[in-house]
Amino acid sequence: MNMITNHLPTEELQALDAAHHLHPFTDGNALAAKGARVITRAQGVTLTDSDGNDYLDAMAGLWCVNIGYGRDSIADVAARQMKELPYYNTFFQTTHVPAIALSQKLAELAPGDLNHTFFSAGGSDANDTNIRLVRHYWAAKGKPEKKVIISRHNAYHGSTMGGASLGGMKPMHAQGGLPIPDIAFIDQPNWYAEGGDLDPAEFGLERARQLEAKIAELGENKVAAFIAEPVQGAGGVVIPPETYWPEIQRICDEHEILLIADEVICGFGRTGNWFGSETFNIRPDVMTIAKGLSSGYAPIGGSMVTDEVAATLNAGGDFNHGYTYSGHPVAAAVALENLRILEEEKIVETVCNETAPYLEEKWMQLGDHPLVGQAGICGMMGSIAMTPDKSARAGFAGGAGQVGLICRDHCFSNGLVMRHVGDRMIISPPLVLTKSDIDTLIDRASKALDLTLKDATDQGLMKSA
Ligand SMILES: *Cc1c(COP(=O)(O)O)cnc(C)c1O
Repeated sequence: MNMITNHLPTEELQALDAAHHLHPFTDGNALAAKGARVITRAQGVTLTDSDGNDYLDAMAGLWCVNIGYGRDSIADVAARQMKELPYYNTFFQTTHVPAIALSQKLAELAPGDLNHTFFSAGGSDANDTNIRLVRHYWAAKGKPEKKVIISRHNAYHGSTMGGASLGGMKPMHAQGGLPIPDIAFIDQPNWYAEGGDLDPAEFGLERARQLEAKIAELGENKVAAFIAEPVQGAGGVVIPPETYWPEIQRICDEHEILLIADEVICGFGRTGNWFGSETFNIRPDVMTIAKGLSSGYAPIGGSMVTDEVAATLNAGGDFNHGYTYSGHPVAAAVALENLRILEEEKIVETVCNETAPYLEEKWMQLGDHPLVGQAGICGMMGSIAMTPDKSARAGFAGGAGQVGLICRDHCFSNGLVMRHVGDRMIISPPLVLTKSDIDTLIDRASKALDLTLKDATDQGLMKSA
């Protein structure tokens, strides 16, 4: 075992953490009572905590460590860049080599003529950029009244005022006076939870056509854009029915609105192609990128736009928007090295041709487990919906998330990081996961499901809502 001893004992670290550190999306008192798990190091697909326990990280951090942990060349590139030019801005008619090289590389990798990038420090602020960018775009075209952005219930687009407003998460809207004005919502294409008696194909069309109805209701002259994740991530890895995206694309083509694909999770290989837009045949005007762009080694994100959108923006005078860290040279250099690794090691091709099909075969077999109502997977992102009644796709009588939490804890105790969203268990592992890692993942996941079924039965939780 690789014990690292240059830190305080776990209990002291936990006490200091509870005393001074406010955690995202966390009940602080509940965490303080329990003590946070302290992650101290990671290599490949494996995390190690302060007590020396190892975990297979089936979430790639937070959906981001696509190339796996412990890449020395990234550290070297970052150190070199910090020595040469640690920081300069791109505001005052200046630029620098890492931002130039990265924007050129992204133009080469992105589909269609998405050839221009406005950089941010992450996905939330990139979506804030998108709100202002699409509204400025229509103003530059002489249609300033086109302002409304249509999104979807249960979408996740980040946690800033703009990002959380675009997102469709009710508990987020309930805090801080969200959403901001001129954001509208349609329902999500979650057939398992909301499809009722419709077959998935019919349901996909019904949900897509809500976009057309919403455009008609608001007036096409008021609508700026539609935003969606190709596959919803934080909403529970919701893979849309096959009919959904072609119909959304048709509607966007027939109406004068921009299509924003939020590729923060789907981008950079996650779905088995470089971008989710390729997997689902989507032609976005704007694409949000972050997470896998740097594999989480440095904070960076961006908004990519087509030639036409860029030309319109550029003809519209000053775009009064920007971040101190837009195109940060160290983050940009790290992202470039990450993209080099993804390309030269043919990681996306290996996912597409070898590891994702292998994972899919094994993962879908979890669908036969008595606790599982549906298994779904797209490339290297998967979900299993747990249920007390398979045929009815029922929720648990005790409320959503209880059984999910039990399962999550069993995963952790068995050396697997798998997240729960309500009673859906989700994975989004590093793309460098090998077939033998996949065997380990599936073993630990099925063991966790067995233990969860036993606990849920013993605790009388196997009753339908
Ligand atoms: C994570 C995420 C974001 C927000 O990115 P941050 O870097 O956390 O600001 C936006 N959109 C999607 C789809 C995400 O998954």
